[in-house]
Amino acid sequence: MTTRDTLNFLLYDWIKADALSARERFADHSRETFDAVLDTCERIAREKYAPFNRLVDIQEPQFDGEKVILPQATHDAQQAYAASGMLSAAQDYGIGGMQLPYTVEAAANSFFSMASVSIGSGMLTTGNANLLMAHGTELQKQVFALNEFSGRWSGTMCLSEPQAGSSLSDVATRAVPDGAGFEADPLGPRYRLTGNKMWISAGEHELTENIVHLVLAKIPGPDGKLVPGTRGISLFIVPKKLVDARGQLTGERNDVALAGLNHKCGWRGTTNTLLNFGEGKYPVRGAAGAVGYLVGQPGKGLHCMFHMMNEARIGVGLAATMLGMAGYQASLDYAKNRPQGRPIQAPTLRAGASSLPPEGAHSTLGRSGGGMGPAGKDAAQPQVRIIEHADVKRMLLAQKAYCEGALALELYCARLVDEQHTGDAAAADDARLLLEVLTPIAKSWPSEWCLEANSLAIQIHGGYGYTRDFPVEQYWRDNRLNMIHEGTHGIQAMDLLGRKVLMEEGRGLTLLAARMQATIAQAGLIAELAPHAAALGEALRHVGAATRAAWSTGKPTDALANAVPYLQAFGHTVLAWIWLDVALDSRAQAGHAASAGHTGRLAAARYFFHFELPKIGAWLKVVESRDRTCADCPEEAF
Ligand SMILES: Cc1cc2nc3c(=O)[nH]c(=O)nc-3n(C[C@H](O)[C@H](O)[C@H](O)COP(=O)(O)OP(=O)(O)OC[C@H]3O[C@@H](n4cnc5c(N)ncnc54)[C@H](O)[C@@H]3O)c2cc1C
Repeated sequence: MTTRDTLNFLLYDWIKADALSARERFADHSRETFDAVLDTCERIAREKYAPFNRLVDIQEPQFDGEKVILPQATHDAQQAYAASGMLSAAQDYGIGGMQLPYTVEAAANSFFSMASVSIGSGMLTTGNANLLMAHGTELQKQVFALNEFSGRWSGTMCLSEPQAGSSLSDVATRAVPDGAGFEADPLGPRYRLTGNKMWISAGEHELTENIVHLVLAKIPGPDGKLVPGTRGISLFIVPKKLVDARGQLTGERNDVALAGLNHKCGWRGTTNTLLNFGEGKYPVRGAAGAVGYLVGQPGKGLHCMFHMMNEARIGVGLAATMLGMAGYQASLDYAKNRPQGRPIQAPTLRAGASSLPPEGAHSTLGRSGGGMGPAGKDAAQPQVRIIEHADVKRMLLAQKAYCEGALALELYCARLVDEQHTGDAAAADDARLLLEVLTPIAKSWPSEWCLEANSLAIQIHGGYGYTRDFPVEQYWRDNRLNMIHEGTHGIQAMDLLGRKVLMEEGRGLTLLAARMQATIAQAGLIAELAPHAAALGEALRHVGAATRAAWSTGKPTDALANAVPYLQAFGHTVLAWIWLDVALDSRAQAGHAASAGHTGRLAAARYFFHFELPKIGAWLKVVESRDRTCADCPEEAF
């Protein structure tokens, strides 16, 4: 099965993405137009991304004191992506978009993540411009967002600071009004920003004519002090080069300076920067301070940023998924070609002999066969390919279950985004609530388990996997980022247990449980799937009981002490549901005709239920007992 086969099955057979063309917004679309987009993206990814994945890993971005230098391949990939129209794929026809459903946009972007996750940073530009379309003024949309959609300019998200990562309430970048007429600037109320932003992806490069930074900063109160907490945070557009109200460069450089490049473990094709705002390196009109234009209302900056979070987090989850998929395909190919070892032979036992040697005795099993080795292997036989060993199949099936399951989850969530935007009122509200609960899983689950898939892909390659002659170690290094950015694993876990499952009196959780119950009811009628349906029902009950037990004292310190095991158990339960639903659909599509694809899907589902779902027992045990082992461990005991 190719990744495209898997994608096609999930997209069309399972979530019925082509049915979206019945919606008014997508009326000009059909499966043919969706396929044309997928074909184009798959081709660009194959031609402009995949061949240069190792190159961008080796040739890290360099700063020559003035400019950041990137390989030519990165420029070519950027241009090809912009030319494909994908930057504005979801936008209205009126502004040059394709009015593509988000589901298809996400599916099409997955090819790029798989081919070379870091060579392009289009997702950031699209996210930046989408935010401006939602919260910017008409002129801000016209000048900044449209120039980003066309590929003329690119965008960043500047949230983090050296001292403020997970805790954005501690942002210390200041924004003060820029002179008496600051409110009259046509591009928006004009401020001067000073501060440092850390970890900014694509923060400096020569790939585009300009870079549009979206920056979180605080406007001091009348006493000159910054408002503590997130309430004081506002959002600003800070272009690298200043522009006029027609979107033309004025020829002035804004006071944004590259303090340095971060040298990363992976994801090296994208620059990662420490940016100094307003330090006076590039004074504007004779004064230090980066010029920035307020977006939305003062103090509502985080609200504007979080507007984009569901899609950004689905994007991160999908990138993690596709890196896992890249490792899966590479290790599958390797396992089919690498001869090593011989099959275990069935031992010949004397009649009446015990099948096992007494404890402590050296095994003589299998020795009766003359040339047989100690593990029952006949040295006279030719070697087999490693895919024939049960343990290698275990590692392949684990990767398949993690990565194809994660892809299904991401597409399901993307479909909910379309439902939220184009469904009727009730369906849209359900989709909104389901996304609230599922987004931490969509971001975190692939980040953890598709990373584990990358580790298994290395393991299948043996020693070769640990070298740079094979691609799998890079996939692991690239994927390691995903548990860190867009909210760390720990932060996502606290968001899930501390907020999402409780919000609106637990309505999101109830809604999700109802969807799971519907799948359980259908699968329970089919002998082959009934045991899985029963196991999922039990897991769901267990998650519900653990949620209540975690909060039974009403103290967040008790409930959240084991938030990550809760996230893991919740995630595994969601994935078990996804696999059961996929298996159900696969069975319905296949009818009585067996196909390799159907056999594979059922095997992956079975793997998930037999090898993975049982893990939730251990995770939930510490959650429901509000285990204090970690929380109470004194610092000096470490
Ligand atoms: C390659 C890369 C690209 C990035 N790109 C961008 C970007 O474009 N724009 C941007 O703004 N940021 C970006 N980031 C920043 C990223 O979002 C942060 O690194 C992340 O939010 C974590 O912040 P931190 O590094 O300060 O770690 P910290 O917040 O210090 O966290 C360290 C550890 O402590 C844990 N921890 C922290 N607080 C708590 C708590 N309250 N309870 C429990 N555990 C806690 C965390 O889970 C983590 O394990 C990027 C980071 C990297 C590495």
